[in-house]
Amino acid sequence: MPIQNTPEKNTIMFVWFNRYAGIILKTPSKTLAIDPVDIKPRSLQKTDAILVSHEHYDHLDQRLIGETLKTSNCRVIADPTSAKSLRSTIPPDRIEEIQPGTEIKIGEVSIRAEKSKHPAAQPVTFVITSEDGVKIFHTSDSLPFPEMVAIGEREKLDVTFCTVGIAPGASPETGFEIARLTKPQVAVPYHTSSVDSQKKFSEILKAQMPRTACFIPEQNKIYEVTKRR
Ligand SMILES: [Zn+2]
Repeated sequence: MPIQNTPEKNTIMFVWFNRYAGIILKTPSKTLAIDPVDIKPRSLQKTDAILVSHEHYDHLDQRLIGETLKTSNCRVIADPTSAKSLRSTIPPDRIEEIQPGTEIKIGEVSIRAEKSKHPAAQPVTFVITSEDGVKIFHTSDSLPFPEMVAIGEREKLDVTFCTVGIAPGASPETGFEIARLTKPQVAVPYHTSSVDSQKKFSEILKAQMPRTACFIPEQNKIYEVTKRR
C-alpha cells in the first residue's frame, strides 16, 4: 500500500503513481484509487473504491481491476462507457456507474461526478469530499470548461488536479486555466512526463494567483493537505 499512515482529522493524503491521472487518495476513513493504470494489484489491496473517469488506456485497465477484485471487496465506480466494458469481464454487480451531476457515498466520503472536456465517449471528472469536508477536484485529463467556475464556487476546493500535458490540447496554460477557474487552496499539475511543463504551470500560477499553493508532485511521494478555514 503506497500510503501506510492514516491522515489526521480535516486532512487528506495523496500519491501520484503514474504519468497520467493515477492518484491514491486517503482520508481518515477511506482509501480511493483514481484511474489506476501502471500500478500493481497488490498496491490496491486495501483500497475501498476504484474510480474510473473514462475508457482510455491511460485511465482504465480492466485486467488490473479484475485482478484486484479477486482478493478484495473494493467497490468500482466508473463512467457509463467504462462501466459497460468492465461488466463484460467482471461480475456486473461489482461495477457501479456514475454520471455527471450524480453522487455516490463510500461510507462518509462522497464522490460526485462532473462533466469532462476530453475526446472520450462519456468521460467524467470527480469532486471528492472527505468525511471532514476536505474537497478534492480530480479533473482527470479534462481541458478547462466554463462550468468549472460554478464547481469552484460551490465546493470551495482544497485541491484541484490540473492536466498539463499528454491529452489533446493540454498544456501548462490549459492546466493553469483549470486552477484559475476552480480557485483551489492547492493546485497540482499532473498528467505529464515533463517536469518542465509542471514548472511552467507553477510559474504561471505564482505570477497570476500568488495565494494559491502549488505542489509539483513527484511520483510515489506522499503529500498532505489540511482543510482550509
Ligand atoms: Zn489521459
